[in-house]
Amino acid sequence: MNRPRIAIAGFQHETNTFAPGATTYADFEDGGGWPALTRGEALLNAFRPLNISIGGFIAAAEGESDLVPILWTNAEPAKRVTADAFDRISAEIIESIKASGPVDAIYLDLHGAMVTDEAEDGEGQLLRRLRAEFGDDLPIAASLDLHANVTSEMIRLADIITIYRTYPHLDMDATGARTWGHLKTILQHGNCPAKAMRQVNFLIPLSAQCTDFGPLSTLYSSLDQLGDHVISADNALGFPLADIADAGPAIVVYGVDRAAEKLCARFETHASDLPNQLLPPESAVQRASNNTSPKPVILADVQDNSGAGALADSTGLLKALLARSTGPSLIGALWDPQTAVAAREAGVGETFQATIGGRSGPEGVSPWTGEATVLAVSNGVFVCKGAMQRDVETDVGPSALLRIQGKNDVTDVLITSYRHQAIDREVFHHLGANLNDYDIVGIKSTVHFRADYTPIAAEILMVEAPGYSPCRMTRDMYQALRSKVRV
Ligand SMILES: [Zn+2]
Repeated sequence: MNRPRIAIAGFQHETNTFAPGATTYADFEDGGGWPALTRGEALLNAFRPLNISIGGFIAAAEGESDLVPILWTNAEPAKRVTADAFDRISAEIIESIKASGPVDAIYLDLHGAMVTDEAEDGEGQLLRRLRAEFGDDLPIAASLDLHANVTSEMIRLADIITIYRTYPHLDMDATGARTWGHLKTILQHGNCPAKAMRQVNFLIPLSAQCTDFGPLSTLYSSLDQLGDHVISADNALGFPLADIADAGPAIVVYGVDRAAEKLCARFETHASDLPNQLLPPESAVQRASNNTSPKPVILADVQDNSGAGALADSTGLLKALLARSTGPSLIGALWDPQTAVAAREAGVGETFQATIGGRSGPEGVSPWTGEATVLAVSNGVFVCKGAMQRDVETDVGPSALLRIQGKNDVTDVLITSYRHQAIDREVFHHLGANLNDYDIVGIKSTVHFRADYTPIAAEILMVEAPGYSPCRMTRDMYQALRSKVRV
């Protein structure tokens, strides 16, 4: 066919049903550390250079098609999306596509783990509304996050779905480009490939999902070697912090059905018991205090990851550092808008009586109180330089770097006004903190931080301090999950 006209849109949310609060329309306007809600032509230049699926799709497709940019929006992972936010954004996508005139296809940059007030499967709901408006024949392609909880509705309603293959997510743009390749084939041939999906009956904690090494690295590197008749094969690891029927890993295959069985069996063999070594905060700090390398030991506060819906204000690791660390330490990003204001009011170089974090649970978490000295303050805007969020201008709100005198040495604390997973080292650099100046660095992230921090780390340890992104789940946490799923 001649140059096809393709509507492109993105609507992203990873919903942690165990976290407090709600995800509102305002959260989607903000962007949660990624670009703010963007509409129309501005999308093309803003997203083309970024490691985001729609950016990869734009770069790959625009030479061979006429793109109709609709909107792209994301909110920081959190509690269920309100029906109001979901309905408004879905309606705007549909109405804007209608207003743009006839299109030959739709591409969607989705997450795959959105839960709303009214639907366990937000993406399935969006696809249903699109089909109701545009019919069953219009090709719809979608890319999903590695943490998608893939449903049979998503597979039934979309003609082709691709999924990231890395965690940290370094291939988001490549996944968008891959989606264009498949959509182009569908448009050229006029028919859609056979599809198959198999859900896997166990959950994998986020802290065991890194694809940099071990069995997952092997499984993902062989996804393209399944035979000539397989058009596309992908493997979501699932988002386990969602109490919904469809939570968990899934295999998605286009071309031949039997490849899905083969891939599913291989996945179950290799991924059913992945290592998940979590240390109590005191033990982790003790071990890190023996660090003799010029590089810091990284302590990952894996259960307080705002990128998995936690609040990033728990104080378990902070308190352990103050009580036990020998050598200077740093921790962040800790979400506390009140303390950010208090620090800015006190002023750089001044010492004030601080109350830090621990304001919203979970049970057993309390604020830290005591004297803190303000080392630096900022408006919280910086440009990321690491591989995952390269060139993204991020806004973490009014921020401060505080110094607290612990029992043996100082601990510096990075405070932000917006919840932020410190994926990129620039969040520390923009406040003047040089990570090499510390023996221990605590990061509120589960896996994504590895992309930017592994090169500067003497060692990485995962810490089991309290938080709303639990990495040691138990079956009794779940009511809606399929009964046969092992936790
Ligand atoms: Zn993800």
